[in-house]
Amino acid sequence: MSAKFGPAGNADAFARTHRSSLDAPAWLAALGLDCYEYQCGKGVHIGEDAARRLGERARQSGVTLSLHAPYFINLANPDPEALARTTGYLLQACRAARWMGADRVVVHSGALMKRTRRQALDVAKTSLLAVIRACDDAGYGDLTLCPETMGKINQLGDMDEVLELCGLDRRLIPCVDFGHLYARSLGRDDGPEAFARVLDKLAATLGEDRAGRFHSHFSRIEFTPNGGEKCHRTFADHGGFGPDPAPLMDLVARRGWSPTFICESAGTQAEDALTMKQLYQNALER
Ligand SMILES: [Zn+2]
Repeated sequence: MSAKFGPAGNADAFARTHRSSLDAPAWLAALGLDCYEYQCGKGVHIGEDAARRLGERARQSGVTLSLHAPYFINLANPDPEALARTTGYLLQACRAARWMGADRVVVHSGALMKRTRRQALDVAKTSLLAVIRACDDAGYGDLTLCPETMGKINQLGDMDEVLELCGLDRRLIPCVDFGHLYARSLGRDDGPEAFARVLDKLAATLGEDRAGRFHSHFSRIEFTPNGGEKCHRTFADHGGFGPDPAPLMDLVARRGWSPTFICESAGTQAEDALTMKQLYQNALER
């Protein structure tokens, strides 16, 4: 097993020359990439026919699919009606993932809503357990839900919070967004020592096997000193926007881990995913 690399959604270079996401897997495979995260951030709008065709094309191209659940999902919302809606959205996301043969569904942890982090996290844990039960009842128990680390300081989802969520069920895998960790730490979570601490923490909490298969988002990010994440940048934007992918690729290669890296650069996510893959392969050969 080796690490996989691909983009979140469609890069500008693809969108300029293609009209349908159905063409994305072949385009990505021709570039040398391995995976593709289908974006349902604004809601699950893909129909069964399109999803099944996308899945077929992906399998033909040897491209692994994951799916990003809607951004408006807030597991930390204490309102029971909100939990019913959240569960519905996640079941829709799982149904689309099933149609396309995606095995991972990424979900945001939630918002603090002026509560303490502990209060918000306890609600998110209760909600996530209810969502897992609903997914099991609907026959989606084999899909992997991936709670994501978030980039804004007033969002739930720092590394420890995501790991506590993942402690609820052995099937959960964290989506470690290194751009988000960098933004919420105001630039501190960058470089080999910081990345090694993250990987060590994953291994200590989840065990080496589960940790080694972690899901990941990566992009250079701009942040503000009060809020954290401002916007995603590209690898060409060197002007002080981290984190630097090279030390992370080095560490992952040296540990023999096989995470899935989804690049979320603004517009150049496919090209930058390929840069990450090349860094990783160079590290493997060292
Ligand atoms: Zn996300």
